[in-house]
This record gives sequence, structure tokens and C-alpha cells, in this order.
Amino acid sequence: MEDCIFCKIAKGSVSAKVVYEDDEFIAFHDINPQAPVHILIIPKKHIPRLCDTEDKELLGKMLILANKIAEKMGILEDGYRVVINTNRNAGQTIDHLHLHLLGGRIMNWPPG
Ligand code: AMP
Ligand code: ZN
Repeated sequence: MEDCIFCKIAKGSVSAKVVYEDDEFIAFHDINPQAPVHILIIPKKHIPRLCDTEDKELLGKMLILANKIAEKMGILEDGYRVVINTNRNAGQTIDHLHLHLLGGRIMNWPPG
């Protein structure tokens, strides 16, 4: 998608602090971190929202990748949270599927 900022990051035409990349996914630091570790994991393919896909393989890989990146970032044992905001009430601001990986501090529950 031409106007999508995350497609641009996936293509490399917008820079980001990338922590992981393969053929299907790219992961990078959130520009406005909400925790000491705040990584966004996105498929390179433009899927607007979680509810726009039933691709089990892609969604499964994305979650397993979250575990791997949690380990790489040193937050696996202490704990981490994965969040996929979907649509307005959840606060989705970018219409390209992205998984937030948050850690490095104690998280509150329920979330805000
Ligand atoms: P959401 O509110 O779930 O749609 O999350 C969008 C996230 O993308 C927010 O946490 C933003 O801080 C983050 N974000 C927006 N633009 C960029 C960017 N250029 N590089 C990295 N993170 C970004
Ligand atoms: Zn996109």
C-alpha cells in the first residue's frame, strides 16, 4: 500500500530501528515506547487489521516470533505482554497489522 507507513518501513523507504527481519516479517522499536522494551512486529504483507485475516500460519508465526524476540531482548523470563489493538475502541491508529511486544517493567491489569 503506497500510503502506509508500515509498508514503507517493510520496504526500507522509511527508516526504523530494526531488531529482526525475514522474508515475511520485520520487527522494530516503537517510536513512542510505552515500556523499556516496546517492539512492533509486522507482516510485510499489507493486512489492515487482525480481523482482516484468517491466515493461521502467518498469525501463528507472528506469535512465535514474539517469543523469539522477547528472548532476544532479554524479557522472556521476567515477562512480557503482546497486544494487537484492533479498530477504534482499542486505539488502533495505523491500519497495518502490528503486534506490540512490551516488557522491562511490571504491567498493570486491567489495561487502560
Ligand atoms: P496502534 O495504536 O496499536 O495502532 O499502534 C501504532 C504504534 O505505532 C504506536 O505505538 C506508535 O508509537 C507507533 N509508530 C507510529 N509510527 C511509527 C514509526 N514511524 N516507527 C515506529 N513506530 C511507529
Ligand atoms: Zn501497510
